[in-house]
Amino acid sequence: PETLVSDRFNHLSPHERALRQVDNNIRHAGECLLGPVPEDAGLVKALSMTPVQIVNQVEASGLRGCGGAGFTTGRKWRFAASETAEKHFIICNADEGEPGTFKDRVLLTERPHLLIEGMTIAARAVGAKEGILYLRGEYVYLRELIEQVLEDRRSRGLLGSDIMGKKGFTFDIRLQLGAGAYICGEEGALISSCEGLSGEPKTRPPFPVNRGYLGYPTVVNNVETFCHAARILDKGAAWFHDMGTDGSHGTKLFSVSGDCLNPGIYELPYGHTMWELLEIVGGEDATAVQVGGPSGAMIARDSFHRKLTFDDLATGGAIIVFNGERNILEIVEYYMSFFVHESCGYCTPCRVGNVFLQKAIQKFQKGLANPEDIDYLKDLSGTIIETSRCGLGMTSPNPILSTLQNFPLVYSAVVKPSQDGIRATFDIQSA
Ligand code: SF4
Repeated sequence: PETLVSDRFNHLSPHERALRQVDNNIRHAGECLLGPVPEDAGLVKALSMTPVQIVNQVEASGLRGCGGAGFTTGRKWRFAASETAEKHFIICNADEGEPGTFKDRVLLTERPHLLIEGMTIAARAVGAKEGILYLRGEYVYLRELIEQVLEDRRSRGLLGSDIMGKKGFTFDIRLQLGAGAYICGEEGALISSCEGLSGEPKTRPPFPVNRGYLGYPTVVNNVETFCHAARILDKGAAWFHDMGTDGSHGTKLFSVSGDCLNPGIYELPYGHTMWELLEIVGGEDATAVQVGGPSGAMIARDSFHRKLTFDDLATGGAIIVFNGERNILEIVEYYMSFFVHESCGYCTPCRVGNVFLQKAIQKFQKGLANPEDIDYLKDLSGTIIETSRCGLGMTSPNPILSTLQNFPLVYSAVVKPSQDGIRATFDIQSA
């Protein structure tokens, strides 16, 4: 792998630059996303194809959404394209808020043209004339750069009317800034936010591809997904399909942070084991790895042989490495405080249940938990997962459930025996 060093952060203050240092540690895999890619080669080819052929190409590549959910991109585009409506919309979800994930930030910085190219190809495929790039509020410092890129593309006929001389193909993009809410990374909440409403998830169905932004068919894809689509149109479906594994084709960007020698962004074909990734990043001493950020799972060394694929260790990109000096209960409590803070509050299981889970973890930290509290954690986690309205609540207990499963001693070592005949219950008053 080569290292790509960016000078895009030169305008930042020394402090901000220090925070972005890790972004400069980029390893790429050939002609995929972070390697040397020809500008707009995918768009040129897309404009020589029919919309149906574009969708077929993306579907045949096996590309799946890179934000975490993993839905087949070609199928999503096909659903939206098949809707007869006055308008269609393309939205790029650049609300990258999962702790430990910073790959989209690097793509926005290093490959903004590739992203806009991918969105333009999607617009051609589904018949959209308008697009929105929804940027995470904390990435406000990228606003100027992206506005410049959009303006540059308009001036070169790559956005606007009759793109690249293609009569009747009109598409333009507006940039919309989020306001710092994690929940706006959820598709429905993001659309609500774009509509000027508060960022609350929508009830499904209808799905955005049928009735999304302002009630029109809308394709919402992650930054990385659009970039892959642009490369697929250039290199062909077979090129992408042949990389990776049977169920997980192509390459994936991993944001690696924590206790390793070389944190940064790594682009690898799907299918590497966690051990292999840890060797590449200098994290062989790890005793635990959080795969997929707080909403993912924490795995122990005996699972490091498992593969980074949709079917095994699925991740939107976050890989957080922990060595043996880290206190796992502290990490879990921190993750729960994150979910408590970020819950939009719409439904009770998520709004209240996560507070109870956090308090229960604090009980373990203080050495006040009984063995029955382990059952309590499992029961309440199950209830929250079953009854929450959106993905935040459905995944918020994961830090607890995955550590209960993979690090049971962390819990059993701090519990004290309960008194005979008295089932330990959580003290609601203390919450
Ligand atoms: Fe809001 Fe949580 Fe309910 Fe999602 S699960 S709608 S974040 S309260």
